[in-house]
Amino acid sequence: MALRDIVKIPDKRLRLVSEPVMRIDASIRALAEDMFETMYHAPGIGLAAIQIGVAKRVVVMDLSKKDEAQAPQVFINPEITWRSDEQSTHEEGCLSIPEYYEEVERPQRIKVKYLDLDGKTHEIEADGLFATCLQHEIDHTNGVLFIDHISKLKRDRVVKKFTKAAKAEKAAESPAKKVEA
Ligand SMILES: [Zn+2]
Repeated sequence: MALRDIVKIPDKRLRLVSEPVMRIDASIRALAEDMFETMYHAPGIGLAAIQIGVAKRVVVMDLSKKDEAQAPQVFINPEITWRSDEQSTHEEGCLSIPEYYEEVERPQRIKVKYLDLDGKTHEIEADGLFATCLQHEIDHTNGVLFIDHISKLKRDRVVKKFTKAAKAEKAAESPAKKVEA
């Protein structure tokens, strides 16, 4: 297992549409392990592969509470097959947009079809936090971020803030790079 760097906005990789997993082999199992290690370390409750720079349709999640045993879940090629008309609002955050939280309205219940690590197909119905988290992570596999569901004014503001921070970070790194060259 290895801890991976989390890709943050405005990195363009977060806008990629991830590729379906064609074969669940050792490399996919290793990817899922790295994703869990990275997610637990952050800490976060869900992570899509693109958030560690891998454009594959793999999602990991653990919605257990602090005093409960870990409950790791892997969703390969997850696909929403049904959405309820009822909507619900949850405050969301994202490891790729650290320390930014905003309320997002989404369908309250969904059905999701996916493969597990043994290649077995499942179809489940989710609601509450589980439904929100699944929709958030499946969005990532399609290059969509939770800030795409909030007002343009708020989105522009947060993107600008992170773009500025990324530029400042790059500028701080460059003297060291010159020394290396
Ligand atoms: Zn996210």
